[in-house]
Amino acid sequence: MTDPVRTKRKAVPSPTGLEADPPRHDRDQADRTSNADANANDDAGADADATADVYAKKVEDADVDWNDVIDTHCHITDTLDPSEFETMAEHLRTRQLWMMASHAGDWDALTRAAQHAPAKCIPFYGIHPWHLPALQDPAAPAAGAVSEAVWCDLEDRVRRYAAAGIGEIGVDFKATDPATGALRDRGMQEAVWARQLRLAVRLGRPVSMHCVAASGVLVDVLTALDAEAGPPLPSRRQRRRQQQQQRGPVPGPPIILHSFGGSPETLKRILQLDHVGPRVYVGFSQAINGARTPAATLRQRIAAVPDDRLLLESDVPQWHAVDAAMLAIGRCVAAHRGWDLASCFRICAQNARRVLAS
Ligand SMILES: [Zn+2]
Repeated sequence: MTDPVRTKRKAVPSPTGLEADPPRHDRDQADRTSNADANANDDAGADADATADVYAKKVEDADVDWNDVIDTHCHITDTLDPSEFETMAEHLRTRQLWMMASHAGDWDALTRAAQHAPAKCIPFYGIHPWHLPALQDPAAPAAGAVSEAVWCDLEDRVRRYAAAGIGEIGVDFKATDPATGALRDRGMQEAVWARQLRLAVRLGRPVSMHCVAASGVLVDVLTALDAEAGPPLPSRRQRRRQQQQQRGPVPGPPIILHSFGGSPETLKRILQLDHVGPRVYVGFSQAINGARTPAATLRQRIAAVPDDRLLLESDVPQWHAVDAAMLAIGRCVAAHRGWDLASCFRICAQNARRVLAS
């Protein structure tokens, strides 16, 4: 089976020299750290090597309004060359791409794409837990493993671009250092994640979050954030009233649990948080969820997400794979929810627009 998202990647030098690891978003790592569920319906595998023409043929018969197809998590700057901007604009049908950074070496490419097509390319700047630098000084505070110059650069870029979010950030307790094979330092991951989360709160920007084998920490961190956001709501009636008031944009940054692989119980605990819960969204991708999770498990996972919190994502690193990946996860979620494909994309697009409007 071809890995759905493994591609030839060009090396991109890091202007900040941040990453000590191989610079690309390491999908081999994903093989090791994903849920490793049985592959139930991997139809994205052959897609990885296809050309734009092949993709165009594959998607041309789809009965969807492409204006409603919003990819809320992709890594196309892994492979996108500025010389391809025009080709992408001509061939790509997906309405909007939320482009994730993996590390500081991606940030210039995100900015270039966003400047070229501001309505289509939404940049998310951040540092992924797989791409933290090695902690040189064990006595130093873990968040200090990222230099202050990098932190300043991150904040500056997010401030400069009004539509920008923060991502991909998070924790991955199965991630290993490719050089040594050792598990990555948990304390450092949590510290760098927390500082990025704080930045998102301070600037009110959406966050795209990666979480593997760390559900307990995720719940703890979001519970702490909830406590800071305001006093608990004592009654169900107040909760209901708050939810009714929050049909529109909710104060505070939306938090997207990307390619969600946690349990329905974990999600329930998060969604019940008084202040943070109403702004939590859940993304599903074919690459991780559709292709790697047994159907029954995936059905339960998707069923645990309220209609108004569902998002769709490709999580692929090539622009020409996006349309097919979006159709695949759209069909998957539609089937599990009992929706037609057009309704599925429409509902998820409404949710995505709400995230960006928050
Ligand atoms: Zn990602």
